[in-house]
Amino acid sequence: PTVFISGATGFIAQHIIKQLLDSKTYKVVGSVRSAAKAEKLESDFGNHPDLSLVTVEDLSKLDAFDSVFKEHGASFDYIFHTASPVVFTITDFQNEMITPAVNGTKNIFEATVKYAPNVKKFVQTSSSAALRNPEASTDPSVNVTEKSWNTLGLEESTKDYIKAYFYSKGTAEKISWELHEKLGAKFELTVINPVYVFGPQAFDSSVSNHLNFSCEVINSIVHSKFNTPLSNSVKGNFIDVRDVARAHVEALTSDKLSGQRLILSENIFSSELIANIINEKFPQLNGKIAKPSPISNEEISKHLANIDNHVTKGLLSFEFRDLTTIVVDTVSQILNVEAKK
Ligand code: NDP
Repeated sequence: PTVFISGATGFIAQHIIKQLLDSKTYKVVGSVRSAAKAEKLESDFGNHPDLSLVTVEDLSKLDAFDSVFKEHGASFDYIFHTASPVVFTITDFQNEMITPAVNGTKNIFEATVKYAPNVKKFVQTSSSAALRNPEASTDPSVNVTEKSWNTLGLEESTKDYIKAYFYSKGTAEKISWELHEKLGAKFELTVINPVYVFGPQAFDSSVSNHLNFSCEVINSIVHSKFNTPLSNSVKGNFIDVRDVARAHVEALTSDKLSGQRLILSENIFSSELIANIINEKFPQLNGKIAKPSPISNEEISKHLANIDNHVTKGLLSFEFRDLTTIVVDTVSQILNVEAKK
């Protein structure tokens, strides 16, 4: 079977592709934004014969996926839509965040219905951002489940980058559910709603001084200074990128997962907790990086909404990695790469 994946260069997408190719079951067609990015990705995957890349430059264009789907759509059995802006250094939230997320989803969904008659399952990478408003994320009286949605409107969301991201993910997800019904799509839909996705990069070559948004949480602690407060201190829920990829791959063929929203969250974290794990597991960093006072999960949970994903955990065939495993694997990769420089 052939899987099309949008946003093939992404942190999560690279792990999905790796698992698909490792399974020796699937051929993969991935979309990237430029030839230079395609070249790097192809070389990272050792010019794998079952991976081919196509260019989709701009998600915002309402016919962004049309030509690729007209040409190759008949060969696609499954679709992963992962591409969406996850950059917080932008200023035009409408045009750089909301429009590409929303138009990109609308177009790939419609192109699948029109030009890809053999698709059996469409799996969309949404986010826990679709599940509640930003202020609710830090309210311990809020309970979030697979039925929750954020209630953000467009106008308030064009003024603030966090709201813009939450709005972009909630709206893009709703479009898929709505189009699935409205267009009478013959394929099944599964949506994946991950919390903060941590873990190693699929390839050492992606390790750089500054990583993608979620990975930067751990990377910035590795590069923090002793006796200095953490510059980028966050609290939230976490999940390992390899588990996120596995859930995507499982969603392709599992009937149980059809029509479901899957909240991928193992547990809660804070930057302080991660810094403490790094200090404990990497004695060579002791005295070099920040060493906050110990913090308990009970204390962290006072500042977070409760995410209740027992339904998702009951549907998936595997358990999620814990924070220590994620931190050790991530930091080991960063240190190994930096030792070779
Ligand atoms: P990355 O930034 O690594 O990947 C995003 C992908 O989308 C890249 O391939 C990027 O291309 C592509 N993309 C972004 N904007 C555009 C655009 N305007 N036009 C075309 N392509 C675009 O992030 P992640 O791997 O972390 O994110 C993947 C998905 O997972 C996203 O949908 C995100 O919302 C979701 N997610 C991520 C979480 C996390 O903690 N990381 C948590 C919850 C959900 P390029 O490489 O060229 O920039």
